[in-house]
Amino acid sequence: MQVVNTKYADTLNYIGGQIVSSGSNRFLDVISPIDGNPLSRVNLSTRDDLDRAVASASAAFPAWSSMPVKERVQILYKYRELLIRDFDELMHLVHEENGKTLEESKAEVEKCIELTEFACSMPQMISGEVQEVSKGVECVTSHAPLGVVASIVPFNFPAMVPNWTLPNAIALGNCMILKPSELVPLCSQKLANLLKEAGLPDGVLNIINGDREIVEAICDHPGIEAVSFVGSTKVAKIVYARASASMKRVVALGGAKNHLMVLPDAHPMMTASNVTASMSGCAGQRCMAASAMVGVGEVDHIVALMVEEGKKLIPGKNLGPVISAAAKARIEGYITEAEKAGAKILLDGRNCVVAGKENGTYVGPTIIDFVTPDMSVAREEIFGPVISILRTKTLDEAIEIENANPYGNAASVFTQSGGLARLVAEKVSAGMIGVNIGVPVPREPFSFGGWNESKFGACDITGKSSIEFWTRLKKITTKWNPEAKTNWMS
Ligand code: NAD
Repeated sequence: MQVVNTKYADTLNYIGGQIVSSGSNRFLDVISPIDGNPLSRVNLSTRDDLDRAVASASAAFPAWSSMPVKERVQILYKYRELLIRDFDELMHLVHEENGKTLEESKAEVEKCIELTEFACSMPQMISGEVQEVSKGVECVTSHAPLGVVASIVPFNFPAMVPNWTLPNAIALGNCMILKPSELVPLCSQKLANLLKEAGLPDGVLNIINGDREIVEAICDHPGIEAVSFVGSTKVAKIVYARASASMKRVVALGGAKNHLMVLPDAHPMMTASNVTASMSGCAGQRCMAASAMVGVGEVDHIVALMVEEGKKLIPGKNLGPVISAAAKARIEGYITEAEKAGAKILLDGRNCVVAGKENGTYVGPTIIDFVTPDMSVAREEIFGPVISILRTKTLDEAIEIENANPYGNAASVFTQSGGLARLVAEKVSAGMIGVNIGVPVPREPFSFGGWNESKFGACDITGKSSIEFWTRLKKITTKWNPEAKTNWMS
């Protein structure tokens, strides 16, 4: 029973094609970071709810997995049409619950469509291999689904990250349990409605809302074959260890501290605008955001342009809020700590209040110069519109700094020298590299995934690599002609 005045009804679970209450009376307010207004309340689930979701997915699996892939993707073609039809509604939901600007929300929904298009190409992507491996003997491979799989997602892309996993996993014949972030559960519900309208059979997708308790239950559940996780490194490690211990296949993407190396010959304006956009887009709440810039040699002219670019970012206009008051306090704490440690704050986003949206949680663009590698702003993920500038005399020193950071999601270099760009691409320890690109997201069919403490597990989460994650290979060896003089070994 809803007791507070929220814009939307309570957010409940979605099991077997039905919206259902959890057995628990635990609710969490869903607050818009734009203005602090309550949007909904999310009903947090119990292990019994998860049992029901897994039972529903298991019941749907035999029919769904035996459908030819070409038929399964017909539903995803329809889903793509519905994403386009309801584009504005989904864009506004992203904006309201996550806080990112309408333009950023639009880009997020566009990405959902692109991800679905890749899933629609699964019949082509997984066409098997066949070869006559010996006289009269053929070997064929096919991609078999795993069964019931789970996807646990973070708050920062409430529509896109569910679409990193969901379309590919179900196109490949799996049935899915999706666990949205309890901070932003509304988009997932909308995606489920669209998939139902597109004709997805009940039980193929189930949504279970909740927090830590339900994540642990997913890791432990014997009916779940594989878990994908996207979130902070701290939780990625817990999920990877716990779900692997119960013999599941796991890919767990964690946090990031992306280093951008700026060389003195870099194109000044392009570099300044790219680096500033990378650190501030989605209020810096992107795992691909520029977090540390390493200026090699004389780059003062580029830093000055970055400050000018930063001043064009107006909180509440072209810069959205961070997700919560706790996040704002954490980010501001980092800035204060850097200041106390002797760094120079060139642009200060602390104590930001947007008129008319006083309960919103905004942090202004922040540029911190002369950061040293020992400072917390150089080492830790900040996840706000903040960039730390470190200075080095040589490129070797810059690469050393990048290599020493425990993460490894992305790294970029800004230069006009092809040789130096290639050297940096080879030497940095990260999974996604940019050359003169601030946010080097590999678009499908290339796959998304970092290295080191930014990802645990063997496969990437999108693109071609995700096919390996969501399926297992069956190898069928056949001989029909008994007369053939085969040299088959067995
Ligand atoms: P988070 O780790 O706090 O939460 C992610 C998910 O884990 C949520 O569904 C949440 O309910 C659950 N969770 C939270 N605490 C838990 C606990 N103690 N035990 C079990 N489950 C728990 O992450 P977030 O704050 O939602 O998202 C931001 C983080 O995600 C950042 O670190 C960011 O870099 C990372 N991220 C990484 C990628 C990537 O591709 N590597 C992409 C997006 C976000």
